[in-house]
Amino acid sequence: MLALLASHTSAQTNGSWLDPFRGNASKLIAAATADQFAWDRLAELTDTYGQRLSGSDNLNRAIAWAVETMKKDGLDNVHTERVMIPRWVRGNESLEIINPPHHVVPMLALGGSIATPPHGIEADVMVVSSGEDLAKRAAEAKGKIVLFNVPYTNYGETVAYRSGGASMAARHGAVAMLMRSVGPMAHRTPHTGGMNYAGDAPKIPAAAIPVEDAQRLQRLVNRGVAVRVRLKMEAKFDADVESFNVVGEVRGSQRPDEIVLVGCHFDSWDPGAGASDDAVGCIVTWETVRLMKKLNIRPRRTVRMVLFTNEENGLRGGNGYRDAHATEATNHVFALESDSGVFAPARLGFTGSDGARKIIAEIATLLAPIGMQDVVPGGGGADIGPIATLGKVPTMAYGGDPTRYFTIHHTPADTVDRIDPHEVSKAAASIAAMVYVIADMPQGLPK
Ligand SMILES: [Zn+2]
Repeated sequence: MLALLASHTSAQTNGSWLDPFRGNASKLIAAATADQFAWDRLAELTDTYGQRLSGSDNLNRAIAWAVETMKKDGLDNVHTERVMIPRWVRGNESLEIINPPHHVVPMLALGGSIATPPHGIEADVMVVSSGEDLAKRAAEAKGKIVLFNVPYTNYGETVAYRSGGASMAARHGAVAMLMRSVGPMAHRTPHTGGMNYAGDAPKIPAAAIPVEDAQRLQRLVNRGVAVRVRLKMEAKFDADVESFNVVGEVRGSQRPDEIVLVGCHFDSWDPGAGASDDAVGCIVTWETVRLMKKLNIRPRRTVRMVLFTNEENGLRGGNGYRDAHATEATNHVFALESDSGVFAPARLGFTGSDGARKIIAEIATLLAPIGMQDVVPGGGGADIGPIATLGKVPTMAYGGDPTRYFTIHHTPADTVDRIDPHEVSKAAASIAAMVYVIADMPQGLPK
């Protein structure tokens, strides 16, 4: 009985500091889940502006819409912050199998790739299963188009071929690089994404093809067929252009100089509509400040929402934010990014000190009504990374199921139709309640 009493008392003590925040946290959760406002805004953004490739008119127009819409939401200090960003242009592109004749293969140039000559590159295909396989058979690669038919394991691992595969192949004399798209088998969709050229290798054109087509080329080669293809690409970089991060806030009532940062990236790749990557991340983090204004909730610290530009092929938005806010980097007490979709089962992840993790776990008990009380290790994001590194800021990510996310990632299938309004509302509710308590608690989150 004593033991029972003791544990009861300590449980009450542990949670009691949260009592002043329970009411507002519940209100934010209730408001976020009462309707499908967030999904409707996501659909408006992606239907009206579509894909938002860095340097495109679509992105520029979407940024102007975001500024106007944040003002209509009544946010404080709505403004843009200028950065110069790269402008990569895809142009026309095609891939055909010319032996055995004659088949068109769906493809997408990788972002950052160079073009082929205007008449294209025609060459035999060498299929390899990995970098080691290529190294073993390096003598065969000269003059060939190398196809990396690497099975998808997880994004972090397989994406290495997208980033560096062209230079790996070029070092052995390949004239172009094709790759099996990074993602699980879907509906014959190619996945684009960023790539880089190493300084020590010739630059060769690089493109992704669907899983199904990579497997087909593999089977043909296995049968002893000399597979020959023609690749045509016009991809190129124009000069850098102006772009903007968009900022809106709820100014803190007592410590306005202390900042709780929430954000996403507003640019996307050019197939599809960039709905899961990352329009939904923008809408669900934006909901935090919209709902605070709507419900007249003003925490002690400033909550700052940033739509970062140019994450996908430059990270100039995230780096630009760090540079522009370097003097207040250590005033950032917490940063949260949503850039992994909201597909169920979703979770919050956290990176920070043990002391901070303990407090985060207690705050997360407030998310039990929507089943989001378990915070896993590992949180952060590409855009909040630079300021978080500089200011040693604890970071959190909201992430959806990776299998569903990477099935459509960087493809024409990344549209709003695949996103459930309830999953959007749940993300908005979780983020709003978590951020509210961190911004309002008197003691602050330890670093
Ligand atoms: Zn993204």
